Amino acid sequence: MHFIEALRLKSKLFFLFLFITLGLIIIGILGGTNTSSMKKNLDALYFGSLVPVTELNDILQTYHNGLANNIYLVRDLHMSPSEFASKTQNATFKINNLWESYENHFKRDNELQYVEYTAHEIEEINNYFTRLSNAAIDGKDMRRVSLSTLEYKISHIHSVIQKLINYEVKIAQHERRNFLDTYHQTMMQLAIILTIVIISLMLVSYFVFRSIQKDQSRLEIATKRLKIANKKLESASYTDSLTSLHNRRYFNIVYDRELKRAKREKSYITFMMLDIDYFKQFNDTYGHIEGDFALKSVAEVLSHTLKRPTDFVFRLGGEEFGVLLTHTDESNSAKLARDICAAVKAREIKHEASKVAEYLSISIGVVCCIADDALSEEILLSRSDEMLYQAKNNGRDGYIITSNISEFQTRTREEASA
Ligand code: GH3
Ligand code: MG
Ligand code: MG
Repeated sequence: MHFIEALRLKSKLFFLFLFITLGLIIIGILGGTNTSSMKKNLDALYFGSLVPVTELNDILQTYHNGLANNIYLVRDLHMSPSEFASKTQNATFKINNLWESYENHFKRDNELQYVEYTAHEIEEINNYFTRLSNAAIDGKDMRRVSLSTLEYKISHIHSVIQKLINYEVKIAQHERRNFLDTYHQTMMQLAIILTIVIISLMLVSYFVFRSIQKDQSRLEIATKRLKIANKKLESASYTDSLTSLHNRRYFNIVYDRELKRAKREKSYITFMMLDIDYFKQFNDTYGHIEGDFALKSVAEVLSHTLKRPTDFVFRLGGEEFGVLLTHTDESNSAKLARDICAAVKAREIKHEASKVAEYLSISIGVVCCIADDALSEEILLSRSDEMLYQAKNNGRDGYIITSNISEFQTRTREEASA
């Protein structure tokens, strides 16, 4: 059943459909053939034997009741000669019709000769009754009719026709046996074919559905892998490859989201802009590889110092980092900025070219305020940039914090009107 597995889903279902159709066609053909052979049997039984037997019985009855009895009646003057003549004519006419119909049914070769003989005998006895009826009309005395001749003729035709009836009954029994045999054979054949078709169908369906199920689980595994790969890809697109911190792209998303949340909650929001002091000189002194190592160290310090799930650390570009804190007041924000400065220096990364310290140091500009509707995205970033600038001017290796964002607004409004 490997070939089923190799098929596509549509072809698998088509194959199943084809198989079912084929099974139904086989059952249909078989049923049709057997029904038609049973119909032939029934036809032979009914029209070949049963109807002929009825007709022959009818003929016998007519001889006894319609002809012979009337002779007795006319003899005893219980019936008029004219009535006798008319009844005799009707009875012979009826007998001839029944016989003609009987002869028209299918006849086997071996019965033809006897049928011909019977026809001859019927004609003979009919002529006998016609002669008697003519004699009655002619006014002959019917008492002179020989009863022994009449009885002989009636019993003779009776035995001739009875023989034919017996033969037809035998044939009917034979046909009945034939019919029953065909019926049992047909039922047996149908049962066998049906069993074969049903078992094959179940087998094929089983293989088709098992194969579909396999395809389905393969698809599910592939989808799961794809989802994992997508997640990795997404996380890679939000991660800075050197420091493993979130990158600028992710910062844009988080910054926007957290600012909106803080505005809704009217809660504290803190943004820190961090920059390594005299980093150009550091690179020039120790080379770019050492520079990268220093960047990683600063990233580690930030990750270790800021552990709460509501703290976010980003590498915004070059040797600049960003820190976003929520639900942290001014004094706690200042403490964190101080801790970060101290922890960077505590790494003791030699920086001979620095004019402010023996080791690598950083400057931080911090803005901490309660977010309200007036607070815009740009203000927080620009004010932290200004604070960083002030920290640099203030001798570096330290932080400047503000909670005042209006100064900037006033100044920019003044600049705009100038
Ligand atoms: P300041 O104290 O005023 O900040 O002086 P600075 O020298 O740190 O400032 P500046 O902006 O002039 O120099 C930043 C330097 O950072 C320039 C560049 O060589 C270095 N830099 C930026 N990105 C990377 C990086 O990915 N790896 C390394 N090794 N150096 C970087
Ligand atoms: Mg810089
Ligand atoms: Mg710098």
